[in-house]
Amino acid sequence: MVNHDRGIKIMRLIILAPPGGGKGTQASRLSDQYNIPQVETGKILRQAVQEGSQLGKDAKSYMSSGNLVPDEIMIEIIRNRFAEADCQAGFILDGFPRTLQQARALDKLLDEQEVELDAVIYLNVPVAVIQERLSRRRVCSDCGATYHLDTKPPGQTGICDSCQGELIQRSDDREEAIEQRLKQYSSKTEPLLEFYQDKGVLLEIDGAQSISRVESAIDTALTESQ
Ligand code: AMP
Repeated sequence: MVNHDRGIKIMRLIILAPPGGGKGTQASRLSDQYNIPQVETGKILRQAVQEGSQLGKDAKSYMSSGNLVPDEIMIEIIRNRFAEADCQAGFILDGFPRTLQQARALDKLLDEQEVELDAVIYLNVPVAVIQERLSRRRVCSDCGATYHLDTKPPGQTGICDSCQGELIQRSDDREEAIEQRLKQYSSKTEPLLEFYQDKGVLLEIDGAQSISRVESAIDTALTESQ
C-alpha cells in the first residue's frame, strides 16, 4: 500500500454495494481524502448517454431498464481508464466489477501492471432501506451531486446546492427499474462477496448507518487491515 521510494500511499480499492448502498458518497469522500481518482462506471456511462456517443447508444437501453451493460463493454472502459496517468497513483472503483467475469478481468489487468488490490469495502444495506433510498433520491442534471428528499434535501426545492443545476430523478430510480437492478445485483454481483472473501480482502461495513458512521467504520476497517 505504501510506495517506499516516494513515501506516497497508493490505494487500490473497490467499493461494493447494492444500488443505492452509498458507494458514490463514500468513494467520493475517500477520493478526496487519499487524493486518488474515483472511477465511477455509472457516471462514465451516463456521460456517454448524454453526449450521444456510440458507447452511450449501446448502453442506454440496458441502463434505463435496470440491466447490466455487457461485460466486454465495461472491461474495455476500465482498461482505457486505467491507462490514464492519474490511475497510476491508485484508484477507487465505484460500480465495477459487477460480475464475476468483470472481477476476473480486473485481476488480469492488475496482474499485468504487477499491482494488487488493497481492499474491497462492502457496504451491507438491507433491501428495504435501498428501496426507500433510491425512490427518494434526486440527482443534479449538471454536476451529478446526489440528494435525498428526507435525509439530505437541497436548500431550495429542485435546485442543486453546489451548481444551481436542476435536480431530477434518474430514469433507473423508478420503481420497475429498481426491482430489476436489485435482481441483477443479487444474481450477478453478490457472488463477488465470496470471490473477494476468499482472497482475504473483503471488509464488510454496516451501510445502513448514518453517512458519518459509515465513514468512520470504513476508516477503522482500512486502518486495521494495513
Ligand atoms: P450506478 O450509477 O453504479 O448505479 O450504475 C448505473 C447503471 O449503469 C447500472 O444500473 C448499469 O446499467 C450500468 N453499469 C454501471 N456499472 C456497470 C458495470 N460495472 N457493469 C455493468 N453495468 C454497469
